[in-house]
Amino acid sequence: MALHRHTALSILTIAVAAAGVIAQQKAPIGYDDTPMQPNNKWHIHDPNRPQPRVVTPGPAPAAPLPPPDDATVLIGARDDLSAWQMDNGSSATWAMANGVVSTGKGRIRTKAEFTDFQLHVEFATPKEVKGDSQERGNSGVFLLGVFEIQVLDSYRNRTYADGSAGAMYGQYPPLVNASRPPGEWQIYDIAFTAPRFTGEGRVDKPAVVTVFHNGVLVHHATPFLGPTAHKQIPPYKAEFAKGPLALQDHGNPIRYRNIWIRPIKGYETE
Ligand code: MG
Repeated sequence: MALHRHTALSILTIAVAAAGVIAQQKAPIGYDDTPMQPNNKWHIHDPNRPQPRVVTPGPAPAAPLPPPDDATVLIGARDDLSAWQMDNGSSATWAMANGVVSTGKGRIRTKAEFTDFQLHVEFATPKEVKGDSQERGNSGVFLLGVFEIQVLDSYRNRTYADGSAGAMYGQYPPLVNASRPPGEWQIYDIAFTAPRFTGEGRVDKPAVVTVFHNGVLVHHATPFLGPTAHKQIPPYKAEFAKGPLALQDHGNPIRYRNIWIRPIKGYETE
């Protein structure tokens, strides 16, 4: 009897442990208690929204790609963060050495404000992998300070699709996952059109973005549904008509280099 009881207990213990492992493996990464997206069947950060297909991009550049001569260099070869400040207006405190900026405490943003532009950003997530999902290599490029293109280590790192690297965070996953391995330099090339508002402050045209991740198209003239937020999509405000470029501190060490911007002026008319 004693042996039987012991065996039964052991089987029960194994069964409970196995159930725990299965529960852990199947634990959804994301949220199903968030509002629905306004234009599809997915919740914001829906764990079941399909994952972007993986595409292997070409090799990382050996050195920063030189900017065109009419670009405004925001982070260049010289260790100079004078184009940037903290969100509260004080001097930027992120460290910069050898042309590389490391994320520090609090967000930095440009002193200059922009509307329509072409933007080039190079970034690298830590070579040594720590954490998973949204806690692995998280930062972000905030266009006009409010529209985020997500920075994340999405190399074999599952998270909710609309939070992947290159995502219009909380709104659209990238068309494909073109991430390079951790530690390698990656590139976002972005074309952005600021939102336009009526005299009464209503949205006339939303913000629109096109993004290449490591040379691979991940958004094609896609409108932002609103400003970026966690677990929600707040409404537009007329103050979003122009704004700075900002880089997010999400508590993970990210490196940035070679950031330049070219305001879009339109076709020559003469
Ligand atoms: Mg982020």
